[in-house]
Amino acid sequence: MEKLIPFNKPHFTGNETVYIKNAVESGKISGDGIYTKKCHEFFESLMEFNKSLLTTSCTDALEMAAILIGIEPGDEVIIPSYTFVSTANAFILRGAIIRFIDSREDQPGMDERSIESLINEKTKAIVPVHYAGVACDMDLIMDIAERHDLYVIEDAAQAIDSFFTYRNGKKARLGSIGHLAAFSFHETKNIISGEGGLLVVNDQKFATRAEIIREKGTNRSAFFRGEVDKYGWVDKGSSFLPSDIIAAFLYAQLENLESIQNKRLEIWNRYDHSFHHMKGFESIFSKPIIPNYATNNGHMYYLICRCKSIRKRLLTHLKRRNILAVFHYLSLHNSKFYRAKHDGRELPNADKFSDCLVRLPFYPDLTREQQNKVIDAIGDFVNEFH
Ligand SMILES: *Cc1c(COP(=O)(O)O)cnc(C)c1O
Repeated sequence: MEKLIPFNKPHFTGNETVYIKNAVESGKISGDGIYTKKCHEFFESLMEFNKSLLTTSCTDALEMAAILIGIEPGDEVIIPSYTFVSTANAFILRGAIIRFIDSREDQPGMDERSIESLINEKTKAIVPVHYAGVACDMDLIMDIAERHDLYVIEDAAQAIDSFFTYRNGKKARLGSIGHLAAFSFHETKNIISGEGGLLVVNDQKFATRAEIIREKGTNRSAFFRGEVDKYGWVDKGSSFLPSDIIAAFLYAQLENLESIQNKRLEIWNRYDHSFHHMKGFESIFSKPIIPNYATNNGHMYYLICRCKSIRKRLLTHLKRRNILAVFHYLSLHNSKFYRAKHDGRELPNADKFSDCLVRLPFYPDLTREQQNKVIDAIGDFVNEFH
């Protein structure tokens, strides 16, 4: 039997276990050790983020953001329906009401133009999700937020090494634009540590409190820097910091960001180029769109099928050839948990992407031969379809 082409396969740079060994031998493997500091330095110096704090997941970073902006029961938060559950859960845990936004017609990202109609006196924040690492229109979102005095928390889980270009031509890294931003290093993302995340604190007023919330409500971080002579319980908080073993793994990945990104972009471009030239493709599928204010960080390659039954047939066809393609989110406004709480608005685009989007095998070690198999299988599907 032919070997299975998986949907995802974690890529190792080779130094992960070397650095983990170093961390273990350093004698300190709890949070904020040498490798955590190296990672923070990488984000703050090389990526030029403001304050960066490693967390155990993007989910955690979002939960920290919800605490930092002071979400209280009854507050409303505007979130796309086509996203991962964590985007909403972080605010639900603090009693927020979620006002779900539809996707855009042409892509899964949130429809920025319908945000304003959902704003009322209870609205506290907008949470744009940069789906597939493709920027939301941050000119529009930041402008709305400013006019209505709202916080913007970027769910940048998939958006490492991706950018937004403002109307004035200025370019900004995704994750550096909102008041706060959350990244993920889950093994399905571009840069991984198994589980892991990052909170970026762009609004300086949250910097001190972010450290405290991350350290069980204590001022231990300031104590370690010698800024206070003893540490104690000063606020609410939890344990959001990862072990230095996780940071050691992550640092090996960060050092290889450029080569990982080059590999991913090469694979992305090969898919895109092949489908562009495939006869009959466009009558069944459409390809991802990258607006001119956004960049492509090679996070994922997806196809949008013309209807749900075509997707079902395609997934079966690929599976028969030992290729694992997968669909993605089920719109959250239709979820078992939130359906009855949702305000009833129809969100047809989110439903369309729930029904019709397929993610193709995508990982740095996908060989040319394997990728050709995927492309050929889709070519055959297109031919058989006509
Ligand atoms: C992966 C992902 C998350 C969750 O990340 P974890 O690190 O697994 O908590 C949240 N939001 C989006 C959009 C994601 O893709």
